[in-house]
Amino acid sequence: MSESLILIAYVAASALFILSLGGLSRQETARRGNLFGVAGMLIALVATAAHPRFEGFPVLVGTLTLGAVVGSALAARVRMTSMPQLVAILHSFVGAAAVLVGFATALEPGPGLSPAEHGLHQAEVFIGVCIGAVTFTGSVVACGKLQGFITGSPWLIPGRHVVNLIAAAAVVWLGVRFVTNPDGSLVPLLIATAIAGAFGVHFVLAIGGADMPVVVSMLNSYSGWAAAAAGFMLSNDLLIITGALVGSSGAILSFIMCRGMNRSFLSVILGGFGAAPGQSPAPGAAPAGEVRSIDAPRTAELLAQTRNVVIVPGYGLAVAQAQHAVSQVTRHLQQRGVRVRFAIHPVAGRLPGHMNVLLAEANVPYDIVHEMDEINETLDEVDAVLVIGANDIVNPSALDDPASPIAGMPVLEVWRARTVVVMKRGMASGYAGVENPLFFRDNTLMLFGDALKNVDAILASLRTG
Ligand code: NDP
Repeated sequence: MSESLILIAYVAASALFILSLGGLSRQETARRGNLFGVAGMLIALVATAAHPRFEGFPVLVGTLTLGAVVGSALAARVRMTSMPQLVAILHSFVGAAAVLVGFATALEPGPGLSPAEHGLHQAEVFIGVCIGAVTFTGSVVACGKLQGFITGSPWLIPGRHVVNLIAAAAVVWLGVRFVTNPDGSLVPLLIATAIAGAFGVHFVLAIGGADMPVVVSMLNSYSGWAAAAAGFMLSNDLLIITGALVGSSGAILSFIMCRGMNRSFLSVILGGFGAAPGQSPAPGAAPAGEVRSIDAPRTAELLAQTRNVVIVPGYGLAVAQAQHAVSQVTRHLQQRGVRVRFAIHPVAGRLPGHMNVLLAEANVPYDIVHEMDEINETLDEVDAVLVIGANDIVNPSALDDPASPIAGMPVLEVWRARTVVVMKRGMASGYAGVENPLFFRDNTLMLFGDALKNVDAILASLRTG
């Protein structure tokens, strides 16, 4: 393929990636967005392989085949609830790739570079390797935290901000040494890689459970910048564009999530926002009182008598895979003339948009799926709220208890409705590990058990009732 044809293919692929991002921003167009992304990636792969200066076709085919087999086997087997871990580990691959590309190009910088070009090349390598190392180790730790191998509570080393500052200063100094050193020694690069890797571990370990969504999207952004850096090192324009698109969209998503959770971007990056470990709740804020339970037939009776119901899905809905049953309950209630709406918290589940994906899969109409702010405005007039496998996102201590690790995070204020039915298996806390006083409120009824079994039982009672 001629160079000009490849350029056209790269432009087409870039345009498809932009269209893909645009499509993915709305549920109605998300499928189309995905298809644009797949088409863009196919064009990119073919154009890269057809480049006249490209060598190593057998290696490309071999690695692509191996990657496709392993990737599709893993993706087919992974449960929807484990997707965040998979995404985190995929980010770590991008980070590792940037580090490896960096070292490979540092060892073989290419012929005929002027001293200025050589300096620029060394700077690209240094920055790319450092971003890659932070992305790699940070993503591996994030995967461990999401999988539960590593504790979700923040792990804060004493004087961490001073340690971070010293590490940053050391990396800058090593960078200057690496760029200005004509003998091309790799020692400064190796030490900087180790420091950046250690920073990645420390930075994610310091994040409390409730702030993990922001970290996942920030690592997504870092993986984009790592890919862009690899693009500079390999002089591949498409990789630079794609990396920049991923990097900037991930950064915007992190910013939106910070705003949605009332967190400062800086405090999340610096880690350990919220309560330090061991901090006790404010007096009177610890959950206390009596828990009142309800069974599925009485829940069905209650729902059938209402005019206005809000359903709040959370991570437990995904675990139970109860979305299809919930969709059927919704249709049944609508046929009885009940107004049913879904309330989506920005960090419900374990992935941005997790609940929207589940509801779309079960054909819940988009126009009854609302964002937190819209629903919060109307909760005083709602007869009943059905909380299905959600916990942190409906925890009143986020508003009432300044010492809570989730203090300040906006939540769905479900307790303002006339009656709240919370469906979960027991009294366990949610991902943030915070007790929930909602379960003890006078207007709360607990429907204990697996969400799918209980939603099925509600449906059966509605049908016979
Ligand atoms: P939570 O993790 O707070 O609570 C889920 C609840 O579901 C648990 O308390 C559990 O209680 C219950 N549950 C689990 N399995 C079942 C089941 N089979 N049937 C019924 N109930 C079940 O989830 P939320 O959605 O409320 O909040 C999300 C949390 O995850 C937030 O803290 C958020 O910060 C964090 N997070 C979000 C990410 C994102 O991008 N959205 C990424 C990473 C973290 P029990 O065991 O008693 O049944």
